[in-house]
Amino acid sequence: MTTLTKEMRDLLTPKQAVEMLKNGNQRFVNNLKINRNLLNQINETSDGQYPFAFILSCIDSRTSAELIFDQGLGDIFSCRIAGNILNEDILGSMEFACAVSGAKLVMVLGHSECGAIKGACDHVEMGHLTKLLKKIQPAVKIIKKNKKNHNHNQKFQNITDQVSEQNVLEVMKKIPKKSKIIRKLLKEKKIALVGGMYNISSGVVEFY
Ligand SMILES: [Zn+2]
Repeated sequence: MTTLTKEMRDLLTPKQAVEMLKNGNQRFVNNLKINRNLLNQINETSDGQYPFAFILSCIDSRTSAELIFDQGLGDIFSCRIAGNILNEDILGSMEFACAVSGAKLVMVLGHSECGAIKGACDHVEMGHLTKLLKKIQPAVKIIKKNKKNHNHNQKFQNITDQVSEQNVLEVMKKIPKKSKIIRKLLKEKKIALVGGMYNISSGVVEFY
């Protein structure tokens, strides 16, 4: 696979962009990663970058988007923050990636055994982390309410992973609500918005 040029990226549909991430994760879990010449890619991207996707994921050291989707230099905008939460600065970065640079896809990626989600479930308070973890509370509340109503999530055994998945869904809902620019691009079908959960034990990403 070669480095993305503007022409190659602009021809991609949002659906193809999703497929590229799915195929990349397949290569990753099957240990078939592309043998990229990263030094060549430095040269090929020195005059500009044409990434096809913007991925909002956690800072967890086991969940690097470039690695788990088998991507090279210039392929994706990687936005990482504990608990893959959303704030205005992240929305601004997303708007730049899609409306200015031309990315075709926004992905919100949570993961199993997320420390930030665990912290939010336990109502941890510490320095600046307090404010960050508060942003995960809407997802915590939904899952706790579901539990109370015996509305069990079949997919995940533990509460942390259930909240993690719910948090992905909440962030996905918030993006078009809070960003006029992203909302417009979605409506015009110029970009797609997908969610996912990365399993830190298997390496597999489940797409929503
Ligand atoms: Zn995490």
